[in-house]
Amino acid sequence: MKTITLPAYAKINLYLGVTGKLPNGYHTVETVMQAISLHDDVTVTCPDGDADPIALTCSAPHVPCDESNLVWRAAQRFFDAAEQKNPDFRRFPVQMHIEKHIPVAGGLAGGSTDAAAALIALNRLSGDILDRDTLLTSAAALGADVPFCVLANLGHPTALGLHYGEQMTALPSLQPLTVVVAANGEGCPTPWAYSRIDALPYDAGDGYRPMVDALTTADTAALFAQMYNAFEAAIYPERPLAKACHNILSRYADRALLSGSGSAVIGLFTDQSQADAACAELRNADIVPYLGRTL
Ligand code: ATP
Repeated sequence: MKTITLPAYAKINLYLGVTGKLPNGYHTVETVMQAISLHDDVTVTCPDGDADPIALTCSAPHVPCDESNLVWRAAQRFFDAAEQKNPDFRRFPVQMHIEKHIPVAGGLAGGSTDAAAALIALNRLSGDILDRDTLLTSAAALGADVPFCVLANLGHPTALGLHYGEQMTALPSLQPLTVVVAANGEGCPTPWAYSRIDALPYDAGDGYRPMVDALTTADTAALFAQMYNAFEAAIYPERPLAKACHNILSRYADRALLSGSGSAVIGLFTDQSQADAACAELRNADIVPYLGRTL
């Protein structure tokens, strides 16, 4: 019985501008994504003997463990791509398990990163039948954030995403910073968050280039100054607890920002004692913070 367990890292957006909506209903974005140490653990096992073609379990009770789970769909997508690559490839039964630590519907790409880890694990169990580009193409078919999560898992924790966010360019990584994630439990389904964005004029901020420059020159002050998320204007009026988390984190962090389409809020810190103080205040407000670092 062969088994692989991989960490599936959460993603934050250092920069997220929404530039418009295409006739097919998809939104175009400019985003700089960053992986952080907060992670789920995805285990993929090839059982000996007869078994269901795909089986999935998850430690979090409300996450679906059927075909609607991105990990399940990642397995289907992987087998399709492997068969296309090599007609002699034979599908094998897989049992998968997600040990969930990333808050669900928090704008931290929880499902996407689990799917990316499953793709990579299945590829390793199949002797790396898919090259990196094919893996990234399979990832893009699963969702706009999945290619970034594949890159991050393969050691590129910072990247620019254009088009729907799936057209990736790896960027220089920032120096490791302390990160606090405040997830208040009021999830933000991504389609709903985009409907709120659609009610406002699209605002791409200053564009992604100053953020890329800040990363290229390792200018942390400029990086904090350029952090931006177009969803803040759309989500904070509707999610007062997220706004409250933002206010607490802003008092201590070098920069606080909504994560993705919300509703988790992140703070970045150069001073660990400030991060500890922010966590204490969040706990006083009955919010359980996660304290970690950027990768
Ligand atoms: P993103 O940042 O990519 O927009 P998110 O972090 O806001 O996503 P997820 O945690 O991925 O949101 O969950 C969104 C929904 O996706 C959940 O309500 C859940 O029903 C479904 N889902 C499918 N697969 C998973 C998974 N592996 N983990 C968590 N949720 C999943």
